[in-house]
Parts: sequence; C-alpha cells; structure tokens
Amino acid sequence: MISREHLSNEFIKLVSIDSPSFGEKEMGEYLKKRLLEFGFTVEEDDAGSKINGNCGNIHGFLAGKMEIPPILFCSHMDTVEPSCQKQAVLDSEGFIRSKGNTVLGADDCSGIVAILEALNEIKDNNLEHRPIEVLFTVAEETYCKGVKEVDFSTIISKEAYVLDLEGKVGTAAYKAPTILSFNAYVKGQSSHAGFAPHKGIHAIQAASDAISKLKLGNIDDNTTLNVGVIHGGLATNIIPDLCEVRGEIRSYSHQRALEVAQEVRNQFESSAVAFGAKIRFEVEIGCKAYETPKNHLVVRRFEAACKTLNLPFSLQQTFGGSDNNILAQNGIAGIVLSCAMNQCHSCDEYTTIDELVKIAELTKVLMTSNDEQ
Ligand SMILES: [Zn+2]
Repeated sequence: MISREHLSNEFIKLVSIDSPSFGEKEMGEYLKKRLLEFGFTVEEDDAGSKINGNCGNIHGFLAGKMEIPPILFCSHMDTVEPSCQKQAVLDSEGFIRSKGNTVLGADDCSGIVAILEALNEIKDNNLEHRPIEVLFTVAEETYCKGVKEVDFSTIISKEAYVLDLEGKVGTAAYKAPTILSFNAYVKGQSSHAGFAPHKGIHAIQAASDAISKLKLGNIDDNTTLNVGVIHGGLATNIIPDLCEVRGEIRSYSHQRALEVAQEVRNQFESSAVAFGAKIRFEVEIGCKAYETPKNHLVVRRFEAACKTLNLPFSLQQTFGGSDNNILAQNGIAGIVLSCAMNQCHSCDEYTTIDELVKIAELTKVLMTSNDEQ
C-alpha cells in the first residue's frame, strides 16, 4: 500500500519547488535525481534552449522483467502563476491548499507525485513491473511548448497515460480538441483627431466592425470562438493607426477549426477593406484534436485497473488541451487521467491526501499490469 505519510511529504516537497513555465530547472534536477534512485536511465533534452527556458524535458526509462511493451507516464513540471514561493498547507481533514497567495501547483504536482510514489512502492517491495517510460515536460501551460520539442524517435512506448486532469480519480479523457490562436493586426492611418480626422483610417473602428460581425461563443456543437485581447491606439487625440486583436478557436474537428480561422480572417479582411485599412492575420496551432478509441487496450487496461481498486470508472471528453494532444500527433495512443487536482489555475486550488493515494495506487496498478485480461 502507498504510504500516506511518504506521499504527503513528497507532495509538500514538490510544491515547495518554484517551477514556473520556462523556469523548471530546480524541479527538473530533483526529478532526475529521484528517477536515478529508482534505477532509471535518464536524459534531459534540449527543449530548454529551444524555447528559451532553463530546463529541458526529462525522459526516463526503466526496463522490467515482464516481456511486454513499455507504457509512457507523463506529467508536466511547470505551474501557472502566481507560482513562486508556494507552500502546501495540510489540514486535519486531509485537504491540502496553498497559503492563498499562490496556486498550490497540484496541477501538475499531483500527477508527478503519483508517478514517484508508485515507483517508490515498486522499488521498496521489489514488485514485478513492465518496462516503464516517464516523461516530465516543461512549459505545458504555454500551449504545450515543451512536449513539442521532444524527439519522438527516442520514445519507445506506443501507449501513454498523461496525469493531468481535474475530476475524480477513475475518470479519464479520451478526446480533446484542436486549439488555434489567431492574431489580427489591423493597419490604418494615424491623423490628428481634431484637426484632420478625415485624413485618418481608424484601425480600432475597422477591428470593432469585424469583431461585431463575428459569432462568438459556441458556434456549433463542436466548436467555440473567442476574442480575448484587443490593443490599439496611443492617445485620445489621435486616430489610431494600429489595432491588434487576439483570440482562439477550439473544435473537436481539426478541419472545422481551420475553416473557422479562415472565416475570421475573411471577416477582418472585408471590414478592413470597408474602412480602407489593411490586415495581417496569423494563426498558430496550439494543439491538434485527437480521439482515442474507447475499446483501445490503453482504455481497457485503465478500466481494469479501476476495477481492481474499486474505483468508479468513467470516460469523458475534455475541451482542454494537454501534452496528450502532442503525443497523439506523434502516434502514441493515450488518455488523460484525473489526478486529484481541483480548482486549478486559481489560488483556491486544492487536493486531498485520499485522492492522491488513489491516483498513486492506480498508477502502480498500471505499471505492474501484465496485460492479461
Ligand atoms: Zn496541467
């Protein structure tokens, strides 16, 4: 059995490490050390230098006695802001919260601790296990920038469990959307607003015209569109010559997301033309939609593990991206496991020892499964 005390000490230690996106060095060093103690071969890749961070993705491999394929377990090392000087506060009922002025970082320290504690349990009890591959990524919170730099020729596993989801342990996401972000730069002409307004081309008004004609929110059953940021203008007495509009599109259909991006672009173009302005339009693919078949072994093994531990099993779709989107793009079939994180991305984030123990046990069962069903 996973030790509650060992687990809570490890979790408190992980939380105490500052690990903002692009600043994961200390966390990376700690996790390398832990994996080496468990007998892994460990590599840090060069993602850090490629994305201007101070740490790469940490990749570990541990051979097993079982002659079956390895499975990849993946969690991200970075935490969202406010992320520095985090401190885990444990109460008498087993809840763990931050001190209130930072996030807790259960997203994704709860995933990391589940992997570490499962490995600790396997080592201490000399349990038979399958070959295990671990990937701790950097900069997941910035549209999965870290995992995108992984050299996938070094990853052996064809199946993965990504521990990075809210919800009760026993839940997993098998389907996630494409997420596109777009930037529309509307270029007009500046002029004095009092003396020569007629000589100006109003970039903000052209941009507003485009935005007012877009349908935002749920635009169909599978797709959302949002404009989230608008910047423009220098002073109240100047006709603004530049307006930048940023937004995002999510869809379970990658094709549909691309079509919507084109529609948004067309709207900005026609509004710009109507006002005599020009546009530059850029689209970035944050991640690509995937759907892991519900009857895939990676799902059935998870279901069996839930049954072993008497946990209610459920599959759901998520409208958030994760490292699993990038794994899927690289031919790895995976699901994202709920792992004892609640109210993530806020200072009210919390977890509980009970749920952490459950996800650590579940991870141990997956690592020791021999795939005989
Ligand atoms: Zn996360």
